[in-house]
Amino acid sequence: MNVLRRAALVLVATPIGNLGDLSSRAVHELGTADLIACEDTRRTGRLLSLAGIERRPLLRLDDHTETARTAEVMARIERGERVVLVSDAGMPGISDPGERLVAAVASGGYTVEVVPGPSAVVTALAGSGLPTHRFCFEGFLPRRRGERMARLGGLAAEPRTMVFYESPHRLAATLADLAAAFGADRPVVVARELTKLHEQWWRGGVGQAAAWALEASPRGELVIVIQGAPPAPEPRAGDLEAVIAARLAQGSSVKEVAVEVAGQFGVSRREGYAIAVRLAAAARSAPTEPS
Ligand code: SAM
Repeated sequence: MNVLRRAALVLVATPIGNLGDLSSRAVHELGTADLIACEDTRRTGRLLSLAGIERRPLLRLDDHTETARTAEVMARIERGERVVLVSDAGMPGISDPGERLVAAVASGGYTVEVVPGPSAVVTALAGSGLPTHRFCFEGFLPRRRGERMARLGGLAAEPRTMVFYESPHRLAATLADLAAAFGADRPVVVARELTKLHEQWWRGGVGQAAAWALEASPRGELVIVIQGAPPAPEPRAGDLEAVIAARLAQGSSVKEVAVEVAGQFGVSRREGYAIAVRLAAAARSAPTEPS
């Protein structure tokens, strides 16, 4: 436990379902805070009483009030106080309020401390059985379908395991969109009600997952973990040259061909351009058929 009691903003992770996951360090910080900034004062008040923590001064800090409350929190830290920040569940600042406050406190030169603990993203990833050595967290997808599909289109070739938060009523549609963007066979894990009584891990192909979600309408909180794209096959030089020669024969310019094959074969434009120039010159000097 930290024996120093210095002025700071202290981010404290709270349980995502199981009260037993509240660490003793979290209890200490909550019990001794000069101020607890929280998303919902009633919910945090309940957590404090369930954990047997004496009531502390609470300040509501949610998505709508975060910017307005930042100056107040910084003034308290300036005065030498320890301000604890919690969200409704999990790690503050992770798809929850806190990001802007932490940025302001850090850039103001004040101390930021973190009491680590539960977070749905890491919990789901760790138990997914999918590759964990490289991953990316995508939070919630945009709600508008066009924006969602554009986001997913940009992720179709992402090689790292991806983690998404989603609400239960959008699960089936999101899994169907993931199947459309990544292919129905892409392995996925839906981690539901983590650390709670009805914890469930659904594992399989994303197309099958969409059908399951449509049929079962699973409720509760959930995380989608999906495997990254397999590595693209190495382009064979013969294929690349054949495509370039065909495009040139169809009338494309060397510049157009260079851009096209860069996307298709994963070579640099400069490389594609050089091959196109060579093949175009060879085609010009090739003997023509007598008419
Ligand atoms: N800050 C939180 C964290 O560190 O995990 C996340 C807050 S975000 C507003 C809430 C989302 O987290 C839910 O919609 C769900 O996707 C995920 N989540 C939170 N608790 C969960 C649980 N017990 N099981 C599965 N997913 C959970």
